[in-house]
Amino acid sequence: MTEIKLYNTKTRKKEVFTPLDKKDVRMYVCGPTVYDRAHIGNARPVIVFDVLYRLLREVYGEGHVQYARNFTDVDDKINATAAARKEAGAAGTLEELVQERTDETIAWYLEDMGALGNLEPDHAPRATEYIQEMVDMSAMLIERGHAYEAEGHVLFDVTSYENYGSLSGRSVDDMIAGARVEVAPYKRNPMDFVLWKPSDAEQPGWDSPWGRGRPGWHIECSAMAEKLFGKRFDIHGGGLDLAFPHHENEKAQSCACGSEEDFAQVWMHNEMLQVEGKKMSKSLGNFFSVRELIDQGYPGEVIRFVFLGTHYRKPMDWTEKKAKEAARTLSKWRDAIDAQGDGKPSAEFLEVLSDDLNTPGAISLLHDLAAKKDWATLKASALLLGLLSPNMGDWINRGGVVLDQWQKKLTEVRSLAMETKDFSEVDRLKALLSNAGVSVQMGKEGILLVAGPEVDLSKLNGVSE
Ligand code: AMP
Ligand code: ZN
Repeated sequence: MTEIKLYNTKTRKKEVFTPLDKKDVRMYVCGPTVYDRAHIGNARPVIVFDVLYRLLREVYGEGHVQYARNFTDVDDKINATAAARKEAGAAGTLEELVQERTDETIAWYLEDMGALGNLEPDHAPRATEYIQEMVDMSAMLIERGHAYEAEGHVLFDVTSYENYGSLSGRSVDDMIAGARVEVAPYKRNPMDFVLWKPSDAEQPGWDSPWGRGRPGWHIECSAMAEKLFGKRFDIHGGGLDLAFPHHENEKAQSCACGSEEDFAQVWMHNEMLQVEGKKMSKSLGNFFSVRELIDQGYPGEVIRFVFLGTHYRKPMDWTEKKAKEAARTLSKWRDAIDAQGDGKPSAEFLEVLSDDLNTPGAISLLHDLAAKKDWATLKASALLLGLLSPNMGDWINRGGVVLDQWQKKLTEVRSLAMETKDFSEVDRLKALLSNAGVSVQMGKEGILLVAGPEVDLSKLNGVSE
């Protein structure tokens, strides 16, 4: 069996991965807070853990891996978007508008992540469906002396759990010094965090022993993970920004409720994404949603390829140059694998990918396979990365009928040029196509026209073929 090695944030080491039960490998990844379209940074953990999910299924068998990714559908940011809609005159109560917002955002999310070639997880729990579990867990924490009630809130007492800080490697004193913590008069310690908080009559809320209220963010994942996977499971993932405080708090709550140090065996975190070397932010104007990028003409498969070109533990830069290169490579490969039968991923490929998800190394092996023209192995190996699957290739034909006509014309002109040795007309047509964002690849097998990410076929209107 292939040996998988994963870097564990908890031990700060790359370790051989040994599942608790190899017939039931369990992975929980923190999903989105559903108040708006996912931005391209949000796609990074989805793609990274999708590749890990595929690898685990390859190694342990499809029926032996469970992947859960939640939707945080109770959160103050969601309430704020719903309140803004209500103020703008939308009909319905705040709770109805919250429900409407979360439903539509979840549908967008699944659509956008699907367009990037991600499989859907086995479980996609919504936090609002697990409120009772969150109430029970909070009550148990009070009973065990790890939490206390104050002014309608329930707070976790960080000093009651001696390993608090062990995941992110900080002491409580460092945290207080470094963090922007919410100072509230009812907290015993500034680092104590909310398990439950009161809701006013309009806000979404549920009955509890502490009055009508709603859960804090961290308890949501602890409750859902335990309900789905029990007190111990294998892998817990998310972006690096979640390591502290979200995962530190999740771990503290769950361990204090009886998971002990065993809650998640391996904690994994992807580094953050930037755009053209800069932090993505609305004020810099380099903030894109996944949907905007797709609408600008970047095919989902091309976006995915760019993401996988950087190791998940390194900061990743989204650039247009990378997207162009990715489109060129993928269209070449797609052209070549078209008529290939089924192969198997190469052993070397599996080994490289199993070394802490070395996707850039895996992609460089795909280039080697392409150089050797071993297309069947390339196809099967690429599929493990979620690339070159049959349902992701539509973008190759995006030029549709227009490009078909240009392809035919260029083929005729080229055959003529071969006889006359005058290639000026071929060059002229190539320049026109290239100006419209279409790459022209000429080979012995024929001519391939590929609409690039910024194709603008209107530039071809009216120009003489
Ligand atoms: P959120 O909806 O903010 O809780 O984020 C959902 C997921 O996206 C979390 O796993 C975050 O860590 C991750 N994430 C957010 N921003 C970025 C970014 N710029 N780069 C990579 N991952 C990110
Ligand atoms: Zn979480």
